[in-house]
Amino acid sequence: MSQRKKKGEFIVERNYVDDQRIIEPEKLEIGGVDMSGRWGLLVLPRTIEDFDHSLHAMVKNHPRGRNIDRCWQCGNCTAACPVAEENPLFNPRYLIYIIKLGYKLEIEKFGNYVYFCGSCGRCSEVCPKDVDPSGVMEAIGTALRRKP
Ligand code: SF4
Ligand code: SF4
Repeated sequence: MSQRKKKGEFIVERNYVDDQRIIEPEKLEIGGVDMSGRWGLLVLPRTIEDFDHSLHAMVKNHPRGRNIDRCWQCGNCTAACPVAEENPLFNPRYLIYIIKLGYKLEIEKFGNYVYFCGSCGRCSEVCPKDVDPSGVMEAIGTALRRKP
């Protein structure tokens, strides 16, 4: 019998589902029918409590973060970033995405990577929407430090 490799491995687009939202009961019986295994898998929904837009507002109020909403997620910034090339966990496109979304769980996981930015400015040279992602990284870092 093959070993299970990953929690929730049968979920389509598994990488978009947080581990803690996946419930896999060892044994589940409903109405006398054994629903154990993949049939009993449950994915908890996200709720309004999972989102906080205060960081987004702080970034927009920062002189170098004011254009964050222009971002259309093309990824040019990440592709041009020498730090992201060395460490894919630092991803300016994704940081902008989760700040705009206000998704607390992802901000907890990845927010502090913003301090990896070396302020070289290459991302801002290639951004087609004049977001100034380099400045947005600075604004996010400031907002994270100031957030109560
Ligand atoms: S300024 Fe920061 S995010 Fe932009 S390319 Fe340089 S290291 Fe990467
Ligand atoms: S290059 Fe500009 S528009 Fe494209 S993802 Fe980065 S910040 Fe957004």
